[in-house]
Amino acid sequence: NPLERAQYLLAAHNQRQLPADVGYEVAFAGRSNAGKSTALNAICRQNALARVSKTPGRTQQLVFFGLPPHTDRFLVDLPGYGYAKVPKDLQAHWQAFIQDYFNTREALKGLVVVMDIRHPLKEYDLQMLGYAVENGLPAHALLTKADKLGRNAANQTLFAVRKELNALYADSVSVQVFSGESKVGVDEAVGVIRSWLEI
Ligand code: GDP
Repeated sequence: NPLERAQYLLAAHNQRQLPADVGYEVAFAGRSNAGKSTALNAICRQNALARVSKTPGRTQQLVFFGLPPHTDRFLVDLPGYGYAKVPKDLQAHWQAFIQDYFNTREALKGLVVVMDIRHPLKEYDLQMLGYAVENGLPAHALLTKADKLGRNAANQTLFAVRKELNALYADSVSVQVFSGESKVGVDEAVGVIRSWLEI
């Protein structure tokens, strides 16, 4: 699994700091506390790749991870959204940066949206999915923390979310059950990401 080689490359606070727009990258988005860092760590089979405890405000950056020996394959950790404490003008700045990133980034090949299986499809999740789909990008939703639900409840949520996503985005968005804790669905997620990165 080439994703296991992921290593921190850089953090970009604005367009100017983004690495050259070449190659292939997959972005990860999610509401703060959804379990995005834990999911990234599980997918890359590392314990501390993405920091699991983060301070609001400090997380307002795009974090790029390289995938050696490739020099043109990246995972991108987008800032967690939904912090009530972030001031409105800063939120607007970030929204513009992220939207611009989706609209212009040639290297971006797909979006992974991490959602707590108990609270899926919130406003910001739909906004991020919209940015991807509007730009012709595929998206994949992880319903994480599935270990917190029984198998029946998890499957019921999966079917309900899949139905909703199909209604909204047709075939552009796929969805699966996941748990960064019990590692449920890791192989499936890795498969989707590798196919987008063509590695
Ligand atoms: P982020 O803000 O989206 O990066 O979320 P984190 O990965 O930091 O996780 C937020 C909290 O949820 C932490 O306390 C994690 O331990 C917990 N968490 C994350 N993923 C899972 C999971 O799959 N199962 C369970 N039970 N807890 C999880």
